[in-house]
Amino acid sequence: MKLIIISNRLPVKATKIKSTFRFTRSEGGLTTGLDSLEIDMERHWIGWPGVDTDIPEEQALIEKQLKKKNLHPVFLSNKDIEEYYEGYSNSKIWPMCHYFFSLIQHQATHWESYKKVNRLFAEAAAKIIEPGDMVWVQDYQLMLLPKMLRDLNSQISIGYFHHIPFPSYELFRVLPERSELLSGILGADLIAFHTYEYMRHFISATERVLDLNFELDEVRLKDRIVRVDAFPMGINFDTYYNSILNPKVSRIAHKLQKDYKDHKIILSVDRLDYSKGILHRLKGFSQFLENHPEFWNKVSLFMIIVPSRDNVESYSDLKTKIDETIGSINGIYSNMNWTPVHYFYHGFSFEELCAMYYVADVALVTPLRDGMNLVAKEYIAAKRDNPGVLILSEMAGASIELIDSLIINPNDSTEIEDAIVTALQMPLDEKVERMQWMQKRVSSQTVNKWAATFIKELLSIRDKNQSLYSRFLSKDVEREIKIKYNSSSERLILLDYDGTLSPFKPKPEDAVPTQEIIDTLNLLASDSRNKVIISSGRDHNTLEKWLGSLNIGLAAEHGAFYKEAGVWNKNSGPVKWDDEIMSILQQYVEKTPRSSLEVKETALVWHYRKVDAWLASMRVQQLIGALITPCTREHLQIMRGNKIIEIKHPDFTKGSEVNRLLNGRSYDFILAMGDDVTDEDMFLSLPESAYSIKIGTFSEYARYNLLSQTETLSFLRRLAEE
Ligand code: UDP
Repeated sequence: MKLIIISNRLPVKATKIKSTFRFTRSEGGLTTGLDSLEIDMERHWIGWPGVDTDIPEEQALIEKQLKKKNLHPVFLSNKDIEEYYEGYSNSKIWPMCHYFFSLIQHQATHWESYKKVNRLFAEAAAKIIEPGDMVWVQDYQLMLLPKMLRDLNSQISIGYFHHIPFPSYELFRVLPERSELLSGILGADLIAFHTYEYMRHFISATERVLDLNFELDEVRLKDRIVRVDAFPMGINFDTYYNSILNPKVSRIAHKLQKDYKDHKIILSVDRLDYSKGILHRLKGFSQFLENHPEFWNKVSLFMIIVPSRDNVESYSDLKTKIDETIGSINGIYSNMNWTPVHYFYHGFSFEELCAMYYVADVALVTPLRDGMNLVAKEYIAAKRDNPGVLILSEMAGASIELIDSLIINPNDSTEIEDAIVTALQMPLDEKVERMQWMQKRVSSQTVNKWAATFIKELLSIRDKNQSLYSRFLSKDVEREIKIKYNSSSERLILLDYDGTLSPFKPKPEDAVPTQEIIDTLNLLASDSRNKVIISSGRDHNTLEKWLGSLNIGLAAEHGAFYKEAGVWNKNSGPVKWDDEIMSILQQYVEKTPRSSLEVKETALVWHYRKVDAWLASMRVQQLIGALITPCTREHLQIMRGNKIIEIKHPDFTKGSEVNRLLNGRSYDFILAMGDDVTDEDMFLSLPESAYSIKIGTFSEYARYNLLSQTETLSFLRRLAEE
């Protein structure tokens, strides 16, 4: 088994030097984290090598050199970078996920390019993936890739990590490509985010857009279970914590301390990005200067901005505004001995950055939205024994963990101003205490732990899916059932109707049997060795209308009614429905749009198939709560089924119907098929030798699973045909 990591960029960057290529290591947190991952697996990495070349010889050279390190390049043209990377990824998904609605650009060519490049990655992966391998797809540039990989090879485990925020459904729904993107991610077995909030938004968007139903953190698809989880990414703590012991770092730090010994340093470090809240931060700092002249000449903001994506228009506009704002602040307040804002528009070396972190009295980290924000964690670690204060935006994923920082709303310049004052005046013992708590946290949630936990979880969901596969109705099992069927002479065939023979319809009354259903049932019934029973929760009038003319037995309302030898029998006397129960149900129909009440002779059913998923989950709990007292008083059972809540007499179930059918008769072949919770009663009451088949994935009592309702009829026909 191999671990194959796929990300937009490889962990190395190729640079052309004359006729050859040099590779430099990228020092990102992800690279170091995944590199130091202690896992007993061969590791491969697929990604763009950061160089534009369409010359086959050059590509072959790069490929050959990288292959030695198990790195596999995907070559992208300038046009791909423009349309897939700068276009769809960074001008559509990025602003959408960071709540910058007005910056979202809709361009059909960008989407086409995004699909094309995702396919290029899938093709590159297909060359090295083998059954049993584990693939870990990284981030929003590759949201379609998990499904593409799944379609290529179903025998692999796929994980997906979304490193940026996942927005609320209300924003996500604006994307015309919303369902393709979600279906793309759902090709993975494990989908993960930095925080539970992003996870919650993803689940809500998936339920609404794809009409799927999660059970807590899992959703059952046709072929497998997909799990969603939150794993906050960390940093390599020791690297930052020990950095000040590096002579180069300490030399820079001491020089800074000497040069600014009478000054307090506030540090801010970001890539150039509108999501980082740089202008809002400058506004807060400017307000702080305006309202607190006592800090003039004593405090400076060191603002490090790393150039990024300046080919994208919104980024170059932002750069101009930042330049102007800083110019204006310095123009107003600076003097011969003091510059309020020291502005650096370039990247710093690791050593310089660590020295800055170590020396800075305050770190001002105020993104408007940020998936995680590693700068905040690096500052905490690099401080080592020299405490400082972290001011952190509540909109950064890191704020969920770093609760001992001064947490602010980055849109509120007064909060920023006040937090700066609080930070500058904070007593030493408070600084030490807060810093120690945060160091404890950051040192325990390292990037290595993050990656290891993700892989462990992916293995666990793989095991769960494998145990499910082992119960799938394979060709071998089908052959065994067929042999037993052919050699038997007294057969009982019990079939549920909705979700087993017929697909669910938005309106239950529309699930009229198709000709194919009728033909299949007639085929089974034409064999005198077969006793065919439809065991349903439906009322007996509907079953009679739809299936009454066939030569089969019928059981309605979970066995409260049964039809044998052409005659309907009733197991229980008429139920006069309790007024309180009826009034509760009617009230819930009224206040839950698109829900309905079905009144049967022996059962009441509240249907919520068409109700919004969130509203339905709330109403289900409320309704059950409201019904418990009157139902207990009336000795009635409350049952949850597939998008229904049913109230019925507890004596009659699909299990009691099985007992009635088995009473005094013996069969040498029993087959039962059903899809719902009520069918479990049927499975449980059958003898061990019976072939019980659950439609869908999970069953407590059935021996086998048939993945989809669409396979039931063909299975039955293959059984009955000579
Ligand atoms: N960084 C860097 N050079 C610099 C300034 C910052 O390599 O001159 C790094 C910083 O150490 C951090 C990363 O850039 O690891 C920024 O990560 P973060 O999560 O804060 O923001 P992102 O850029 O991923 O949105």
